[in-house]
Amino acid sequence: MTDSMTGPMTEPVVQLTDVRELARDLVVIPDRRVQLVPNVGLVGGTHSVLVIETGMGPRNAETVLGFAAEYARGRRLYLTSTHFHPEHAFGAQAFAGEATYLINRAQAEDLAAKGAGYLEMFRGLGEPVARQLEGVELPVPDLVYDSSYELDLGGRTVRLEATGRAHSRGDQVVTVPDAGVMFTGDLVEAGQFAIFPWFPPHDTDVSGLGWIGVMERLIATRPRVVVPGHGDCGGPELLADVRDYLRLLRDETWARRDSAMSEETMVAEITALMIERHPDWEGREWIEKGVVCMCAA
Ligand SMILES: [Zn+2]
Repeated sequence: MTDSMTGPMTEPVVQLTDVRELARDLVVIPDRRVQLVPNVGLVGGTHSVLVIETGMGPRNAETVLGFAAEYARGRRLYLTSTHFHPEHAFGAQAFAGEATYLINRAQAEDLAAKGAGYLEMFRGLGEPVARQLEGVELPVPDLVYDSSYELDLGGRTVRLEATGRAHSRGDQVVTVPDAGVMFTGDLVEAGQFAIFPWFPPHDTDVSGLGWIGVMERLIATRPRVVVPGHGDCGGPELLADVRDYLRLLRDETWARRDSAMSEETMVAEITALMIERHPDWEGREWIEKGVVCMCAA
C-alpha cells in the first residue's frame, strides 16, 4: 500500500541496485524506500533457490526473475509471496513454467476472493501504478499448504508459516533458521507506521488484536535479522517496535472509545500522540485506519 495517495510518486519499479547479502546464499533486493516496491528476498540451497515477493506487475516480476535465474545458476526456482497485496504477489505470472509458486491456503483464498478488487483499487492510485499493473493476471499458486511448510533447498531448509489474521487474513512469514533471518512482509515495516488495509465494506480482514498476538509469537522465536515488507532490514527490535506501537494504539483507542468522544476527536488525539512518539516515521495516514480498526475490535 502507498503512503501518499496524492502528488507525484516515484515509479514503483524494482531496481537491482544495492543488492545486499545478509547471510551465506541469502540476498535482499532492497525497496530503496520507494512506495509500492517491496523488499525482495532470495534464499539458496544446493539444488534450489526460493524467491520471496514478485514486485508489482509482470515487468517488475521479470526483473526479479531475470536476477533470480542468474543467481540460481541452474538451481531449481521456487516462488512465494508473504501476502496477497499487489506489490508482493501480482507478478507471479512471470514465473510460470520457471518456478514453483508456493503459498499458504489463506493467502490463496485472499487472492481468489479479493485479488480482482485490489487490482481495481490499485489502478486508481495513479498512472505510475496503473502502468505497472498493465497486463496483470491474478496469481494462482502451484502448491498450497495449510499451516506450515518446510521447504528443502538442499542442505538448507526454509520454513514457511501462515500466521493467522493480522495485516491481512492470509499473512505468512518465511524464516531461514540456519541464518536467523525472518521475512515478515507487511507485518513489519521499518521507519513507517503499521499499514492497516481497512477498507470497509470491501476489506476489513486486518485485525489489530490478531496482529499483536502474531508479533508476540514472532518475537519469541528470536530472529537475528528481520527483513520487513518495506524499509531497511534490521534486528529483532523491528518486531518489538511494531508490537509496542500496536499495543499503544489499542490502549489509547480503547481508553477513548467508550467515552462520549467523537471518532474525529479520538483520531486527532491519537494521531498527534503517535506522531510525537515517532516523529520520523512515514505513513501517518495509516494511524487513523488503525484507530478505526482497533475501535471495531
Ligand atoms: Zn500489504
